[in-house]
Amino acid sequence: MNKEFFDNMNWGLLAEQKKNLLALCTNENKLEGIIHILDDIQDYACDVLGIPENVVFTEINYLNFYICKDCNEHWNDVADSMCNDRCPVCNKEIEPYNSELYE
Ligand SMILES: [Zn+2]
Repeated sequence: MNKEFFDNMNWGLLAEQKKNLLALCTNENKLEGIIHILDDIQDYACDVLGIPENVVFTEINYLNFYICKDCNEHWNDVADSMCNDRCPVCNKEIEPYNSELYE
């Protein structure tokens, strides 16, 4: 593999796409083959090219915004996915109505 390929790599995007593939992966669709290739690219970048692990395996975090329809509570939370959260007032499970990338 050539060096330019790695210099231009968006590691955050790769990590996010790997996460998306993991969520879609089933025994039927065999997506784990692609996931293993992405793992290999990350390992090669760290072990052979010496790119720091915290760059290659960068974590993507989201700031998720919630409104509880039952009690009208507004809150937000940082998580590693656009996940549901429990209302801090009534404990109902709520989907985020908005999510932003959190740096
Ligand atoms: Zn509530």
